[in-house]
Amino acid sequence: MKVEFFKHNIKEEDINEAVDTLRSLFITSGTKTALLEKMLAEYTDNQFSAGLTSCTAGLFLILKALNFPENSEIITPALSFAASANTVIHAGHIPVFCDVEPLTGNLDIDKIEPLITEKTKAIVAVHLYGQMCDMKKLKNLADKFQLKIIEDSAHCVEGSRDGIKPGNFSQAAAFSFYATKNITCGEGGAVTTNDRELNETIKVLRLHGLSRDAHNRYHSETFKQYDMEYPGYKYNMFDIQAALLIHQMKRIDNALKRREEIWKIYDDAFRPYLQTPSICDNSRHARHLYTIWVDKNKRNSIIDQLFKKEISVSVHFLPIPYLSYYKNRFGFAQGQFPVSEDIGAKTITLPFYPDLTDSEINYVIENVLALVK
Ligand SMILES: *Cc1c(COP(=O)(O)O)cnc(C)c1O
Repeated sequence: MKVEFFKHNIKEEDINEAVDTLRSLFITSGTKTALLEKMLAEYTDNQFSAGLTSCTAGLFLILKALNFPENSEIITPALSFAASANTVIHAGHIPVFCDVEPLTGNLDIDKIEPLITEKTKAIVAVHLYGQMCDMKKLKNLADKFQLKIIEDSAHCVEGSRDGIKPGNFSQAAAFSFYATKNITCGEGGAVTTNDRELNETIKVLRLHGLSRDAHNRYHSETFKQYDMEYPGYKYNMFDIQAALLIHQMKRIDNALKRREEIWKIYDDAFRPYLQTPSICDNSRHARHLYTIWVDKNKRNSIIDQLFKKEISVSVHFLPIPYLSYYKNRFGFAQGQFPVSEDIGAKTITLPFYPDLTDSEINYVIENVLALVK
């Protein structure tokens, strides 16, 4: 048996919607992008949203729109995907890494205060594996030091914590619709926010800095000239991407329900023998990645043996400060981010998606347990 690491959930209705776009006049950013934005804003209880080409573009444009002085310090977790820190560099700032909580892998809010200096302007919160950070606690801290919060919500469209959803307690949240994310169009992203002006700025920056996008120019009654106040970028989501996502948004809670079932089957099988990240009280976990923690010294050999059994697994994540660029530029040494290092060394991400069959789930469980028991 071969178990793929991930299978997307694109169905006939999604394909038909994309074909419908291809047969229409307008295939760039238009009505379907606007509809997806509306659905995403409503689903996350935010007023505004902007469709983009990736979550990376979202994080970058939020930072650009916030317009901090060059070389500001932005606090970001040591355990995440490289994009959380790379976008800080792209925007002309300095990432300041913070270690994570041992039980969840999320940013350790208690370790932020000592990192704050006069140059600190913002904190990037990553909702790791789909579980939200404690946004109430983070916002209290951010308000005390007059810092902005940016959410890297690549793993978490569906999540909430204490009733708070991504974008509600921050400047804005960025989402990913990359090929392996909970909902996907191959490559895509968006931001949600309750700040109208920020959303407008992001919408201008995503399309060359032009005052009016092509759809609005085309659909106005008279020919409208455009202006440009800032040399913007090219990160606008277009309607073929949005077409693939619109029906996935309608199915999003059903897909989550199936992942919750699989999560429980995995938990029941593994937790007697292994540690896995915890789910906090009052947390609706978006269940993006299911990870197990094994003996560090055996982790890589367990991965090799699972691949030999044709079970595709992955690692989320190697701590960012120890990737060559960051290590070489900032001189980070082993031991500076002990919890991130520990999780980075012991973690394995298992196949996890709604279309996993019961026999595939059992095959994964059997083979993992045979290696760790
Ligand atoms: C996937 C991912 C991103 C990047 O998303 P893109 O849409 O590919 O730019 C950012 N942060 C985290 C935590 C991710 O897992």
